[in-house]
Amino acid sequence: MKPFAFDRPASREQARALGAEEGTAFIAGGTNLLDLMKLEVMAPERLVDITRLDMGAISATPEGGLEIGALVTNADLAADARIRRDYPVLARALLAGASGQLRNKATTGGNLLQRTRCYYFYDTAMACNKRRPGSGCAARGGATRLHAVLGTSPQCIASHPSDMAVALRALDARVVVERAAGGTEVMELGEFYRLPGTRPERETRLEAGDLVTAVRLPPPVGGKQSYRKVRDRASYAFALVSLAAVLELRDRRIVRADLAWGGLAPMPWRDPAVEEMLLGAAPDPALFGRAADRLLARAEGQGGNDFKIPLARRLLLATLTQATEETA
Ligand code: SF4
Repeated sequence: MKPFAFDRPASREQARALGAEEGTAFIAGGTNLLDLMKLEVMAPERLVDITRLDMGAISATPEGGLEIGALVTNADLAADARIRRDYPVLARALLAGASGQLRNKATTGGNLLQRTRCYYFYDTAMACNKRRPGSGCAARGGATRLHAVLGTSPQCIASHPSDMAVALRALDARVVVERAAGGTEVMELGEFYRLPGTRPERETRLEAGDLVTAVRLPPPVGGKQSYRKVRDRASYAFALVSLAAVLELRDRRIVRADLAWGGLAPMPWRDPAVEEMLLGAAPDPALFGRAADRLLARAEGQGGNDFKIPLARRLLLATLTQATEETA
């Protein structure tokens, strides 16, 4: 690990000002950043410790939802009675996401900002456009079991590793960002994350010094929530494919089908066209099959991850079938 300076600001304003300086990184739980620093994949000259800032509460919003401070740990969030009762898909995704030790340290903001687990990103001897722009992509033609099949670019095929963010996307959560330049922005997750395109090193719309302060959940909705994660081991493994679903039936018609995917794309993935196909329709295996066709029409495997395409289809069919049977 390379030497670095360390600051502990007393206010968010001070944190944003320090964070805007070149070569600076914020640190909270450090569960991903410290690994990256030890491997010298990331080598910030200065760490700004934000753990003492006032962003550690879960509070009710005037609209009837919840605001989760960026420093709320994954363990506390998964254990919160309001989350377990009204947003069970989020509690399940958090519990599926990491070991107890990691959940005790990892924060909501850090979870959103964790980096891909592409093997080549972590190996500084390998070409990687995300780590060193313009150097190439060793994953193409390499080992791609964990890699994405949707939303990729010729420059990068890495998948997003978070479980929590997948559930948040299905729940239509918003990310609250205090800009270093001033002002606060509230973004949907689909807006917060970027696809790799020609700049895979830019994963979000954050600029230097911007601080994620909270995540807002809308008021709870009806229906059935589920989180299914397919992985290589029963615990402590990243998703090969995961699906967060919020489904509701009324009068034997689907009236809500909020579906977000993990492991398939460089960001938690949602396809509005798939959801529109399901809305207003009666549950039917043929319909579910057409929804899977639509979801995967543009999916492209790289050999080692080809299996994700039929796996995502089976996961969608199983989730829709089970949820509609139970909801009916
Ligand atoms: Fe780097 Fe992306 Fe290629 Fe992995 S897939 S080696 S992160 S450019």
